[in-house]
Amino acid sequence: MIPISKPVITEDEIKAVVDVLKSGMIASGPKVKMLEENLKNFFNFKNVIATANGTCALHAALFGLGIKEGDKVLTTPFTFIATANSILHAGAKPVFADIDEKTFNIDVDAIREKLKKDKKIKAIMVVHLYGRVCKMDEIIKIAKEYGVKVVEDAAQAHGAKYKGGFAGSFGDAAAFSLYATKNITTAEGGFVTTKNEKIANKIRTFINHGQEKIYYHTMLGYNYRMTDIEAAIGIEQLKKLNEFNEKRRKNAEKLKQILKNYDWIILPQESKDEYHIYHQFTIRVKSSLRDNLLKTLNENGVGAKIFYPIPIHKQPFYKKLLSEKNSLPVSEKIAKEVLSLPVHPLLNENDFDTIKTAFEKFKKEFLN
Ligand SMILES: *Cc1c(COP(=O)(O)O)cnc(C)c1O
Repeated sequence: MIPISKPVITEDEIKAVVDVLKSGMIASGPKVKMLEENLKNFFNFKNVIATANGTCALHAALFGLGIKEGDKVLTTPFTFIATANSILHAGAKPVFADIDEKTFNIDVDAIREKLKKDKKIKAIMVVHLYGRVCKMDEIIKIAKEYGVKVVEDAAQAHGAKYKGGFAGSFGDAAAFSLYATKNITTAEGGFVTTKNEKIANKIRTFINHGQEKIYYHTMLGYNYRMTDIEAAIGIEQLKKLNEFNEKRRKNAEKLKQILKNYDWIILPQESKDEYHIYHQFTIRVKSSLRDNLLKTLNENGVGAKIFYPIPIHKQPFYKKLLSEKNSLPVSEKIAKEVLSLPVHPLLNENDFDTIKTAFEKFKKEFLN
């Protein structure tokens, strides 16, 4: 089976890890510092704080921006659960705005509608889903108008761009994940970025037990630190991020060529303002076809997968939690129509043949 994702681990990463293990300094140390510096230079970010994972990076970003109990944070229901969970971890309440069915990202008009109605919303957490950046110029403008902060969940968007700016460079803070399936990885890991020095220092203290100086604690913090073992992997991965993203874009082009004549498929789009990094290559088909397509692909060697089958406001835990009845029809429809195909950098020509054959098989069986 062609896996939906596969980390690119070479002798570079293996050697880097072995070197750290042999050094005796295996927890947070010089490699974490170096990874933070390299990330700052690569993305031209002012401050970078490495964390244990992307979820705690989101939590730390919200804390840094002063989000607290009683606040509400506006976000998308069509994302991985960690986005909304981090809002709860910060003591705030998630409010959901529906998505744009063309981009799968939070809808700009829906943001405005929610902000108009609810003065308790203190921040918007946007998600650059599948590696495609939200319309950040419009979102920043609305946020300024209503005086709310913007946090970018850039867990799927390392190196993605919108109008020349990197994902993570637009908001008051941004969080990235370095989980094993992301465009670059440290196994588990993540980082926060912010332009504001004071917020960066607050986040640094927060992720290290509220320790401002050695054994001097000024707030309730957490152990959200990254290890040097992870950072050593990240340093090697970052060197190859451009190459990985270019490979994904080439693979996306090949998939589009294979699928372009099927008029029952809606392919992912990219405007001239965007540099899509294809964390996922996600197509849409009618909901009546989707699950059969998934099954046929899986049975014929293609590790297709649904990201995400249930919007967050429909998750059992969130249904109990949310007082308001949420009607988010676009998210609910899209969750039944999307299907992601392998697009990772390790795909080879045989894999594309396998994908082509599997689609032909589906067409013969279900569409003639
Ligand atoms: C992966 C991911 C996260 C969480 O990152 P972890 O490192 O797994 O904690 C958050 N949001 C989105 C959109 C993600 O894809």
